[in-house]
Amino acid sequence: MTRTQVIVAGAGPVGTMAAYRLAQQGYDVILCEAGPNCAQDLRASTFHPPTLEMLDELGMADTIIKHGLKAPIYHFRERQTGEVVEFDLSELAGKTKFPFRVQCEQHVMAGLIADKLKAHPKADVRFNNKVVAFEQTENGVEVALETAFSIEKISADYLIAADGGNSIIRKWLGVEFEGFTYPERFLTLSTTVELADYIDNLALVSYVSDPKEWMVLLRVPSVWRILVPVKENQPDEWILSDEKKDQVFQNLIGETGVETGHRTIYRVHQRVAKKFNFGRVCLVGDAAHLNNPLGGFGMNSGIHDAWNLCDKISYNLKHGHNENSLELFDRQRRAVTHSFIQAQTMQNKKLLEHGDASNHAQRYAEMHAISNDPQKRLEFLRRQAMYTSLAEADAIT
Ligand SMILES: Cc1cc2nc3c(=O)[nH]c(=O)nc-3n(C[C@H](O)[C@H](O)[C@H](O)COP(=O)(O)OP(=O)(O)OC[C@H]3O[C@@H](n4cnc5c(N)ncnc54)[C@H](O)[C@@H]3O)c2cc1C
Repeated sequence: MTRTQVIVAGAGPVGTMAAYRLAQQGYDVILCEAGPNCAQDLRASTFHPPTLEMLDELGMADTIIKHGLKAPIYHFRERQTGEVVEFDLSELAGKTKFPFRVQCEQHVMAGLIADKLKAHPKADVRFNNKVVAFEQTENGVEVALETAFSIEKISADYLIAADGGNSIIRKWLGVEFEGFTYPERFLTLSTTVELADYIDNLALVSYVSDPKEWMVLLRVPSVWRILVPVKENQPDEWILSDEKKDQVFQNLIGETGVETGHRTIYRVHQRVAKKFNFGRVCLVGDAAHLNNPLGGFGMNSGIHDAWNLCDKISYNLKHGHNENSLELFDRQRRAVTHSFIQAQTMQNKKLLEHGDASNHAQRYAEMHAISNDPQKRLEFLRRQAMYTSLAEADAIT
């Protein structure tokens, strides 16, 4: 049986990051991915400053910045009145090397790290290798990997489940995935049309609130991405039709016939696994928690999970297995998943969709008050950049 120290299931942004960190720390790691490459779909595109600091520790930040766009400014916009509340991460200059978000597709980052791993002497990267079973033994875990023609068993000290929202590992563990699924779905469209030619003072990241159709506008190097909600029970054919697409662009820039690259429908959940650690198997990223994408926290928080867990696994590999350190990982990351990621994304959605008019006016007044008060603004910037949640996790013992 092949033997390694850590198996990471899933070559998304979270799994590749975990595997690379462990390999850089000198541990033998196998990264196995069911698909033929790092999935190319349009999902996360925002890297927050602390995530860039982590990438920097791995020597990857400059590469990601080169493949992305620096976005120091983000906007909350009122579609009906044109009102804009601006936040500028440049205010964090002096506190971080990266006082900006980087807009870069997650698959670009995962692909770049997978390439680095392929060349790394401590790493073994296996695409088209699906985890189909695992079993915990007294001293480790045995994992079965399925390829087109065989099933191979691998023995390891630890298994990191970074196998995404449908995680089969989480399902085998039988852990509850508590929370709810939104009735509406989200549609993402991409276009090479320059939206800034139509919308004055458009930031690269804009959260646009509107009681009729809120939206998120995100620039990545090759395209603008537009995210809108679609009502429940609408058939996929209609959501993906030119008629729907024209409706979105008519509302946005007063144009129809705009060409799009992608049109993708997502079901959106707010769910957190009841526990993140099970003996020598731990859940990270979407396998452990799902949230709506408003704020750009899903991938970033998954990477923060992986960072935290790698520290604990590294400690255990040096000093011998200690259940307490994995328990601490669970306590730290699960707490901030609830207190910040889940709470903030739900709050962001409420702000964008308006809800009751007087509540909305109050929420917007609060945003203005934050942006006009230097101390509150700094706290807001740090919180939205995810520094606060990392500090809160570290404070848990
Ligand atoms: C429209 C949209 C926009 C988003 N925008 C943002 C954003 O701006 N910022 C942000 O932080 N987050 C964002 N997110 C969330 C983000 O995309 C996810 O949180 C992120 O992809 C999670 O990464 P992951 O590596 O945990 O899982 P995934 O990216 O889902 O990767 C899991 C991998 O595991 C593989 N796998 C599955 N089963 C197995 C198996 N049995 N064996 C081996 N491999 C397996 C899969 O093929 C996949 O490659 C967005 C999400 C959506 C839908």
